[in-house]
Amino acid sequence: MAATESTTPAATPPPVSEWSLPGMGLIKGLVVTGANMAQSFYRKDRMTTVQYPEERVAISPNFRNFPFLAYDGEDPATGLRCTACSICEKECPPQCIYIVMDRDENGKALKRPKVFDIDVSVCMNCGICAEVCPFDSIYMDGEYEIATGDRFGSLVFHKERLARSTDYHAKLRPAQAAEVAARRKADAEKKAAAAAAKEAKAKAEKEAKEKAAREAAAAAAAGDAPGTPPP
Ligand code: SF4
Ligand code: SF4
Repeated sequence: MAATESTTPAATPPPVSEWSLPGMGLIKGLVVTGANMAQSFYRKDRMTTVQYPEERVAISPNFRNFPFLAYDGEDPATGLRCTACSICEKECPPQCIYIVMDRDENGKALKRPKVFDIDVSVCMNCGICAEVCPFDSIYMDGEYEIATGDRFGSLVFHKERLARSTDYHAKLRPAQAAEVAARRKADAEKKAAAAAAKEAKAKAEKEAKEKAAREAAAAAAAGDAPGTPPP
């Protein structure tokens, strides 16, 4: 019986461009590193470090640290948007928010916080409080230079420490602050229009009642007049 020839094709070598010598990856990495180092002497975008604290890089718009409470106007004592509804307190995963509602002498809720504390040594910067607040009151801050050795005196932020103006919010997160301001303005205009319509309706009803009363009085007076012939 004649010997049969093998039909399996011989393996073709890869093209030269795909050849990989031992250590080639390391050499490529060193070339990139060397190029970056050399360019960092004359190209600003290659300088990955700054002379902190004399120099600071702008924080990313998405950077968030601890929450702050927004207030309208000039006075944080009267302008805080927070209504002490406690939604953020309930939703905070590590339970580091503590709120007490302010009340008048009769115990009626004044819809503002008497106490609003956040223990920032426990806060995990999740931003859930800012997401769930229905009153545009709490947002995430970008402040990061708060290192201290005073655990309770400095790391439990009270409402005075947490209060930040809407101007601060606009500088920190311009897009978010603009969206919130536009929405609040539209809501305020809608409420004002509804109030004006309600007032106009009440006024019209009052005038109609007064007119009906006048006509009834006039009719009664006409019926009581002496010498009026019977119908
Ligand atoms: S950021 Fe998260 S952990 Fe911190 S106070 Fe808000 S909900 Fe709580
Ligand atoms: S910050 Fe917002 S969610 Fe929290 S208590 Fe105030 S109004 Fe309610």
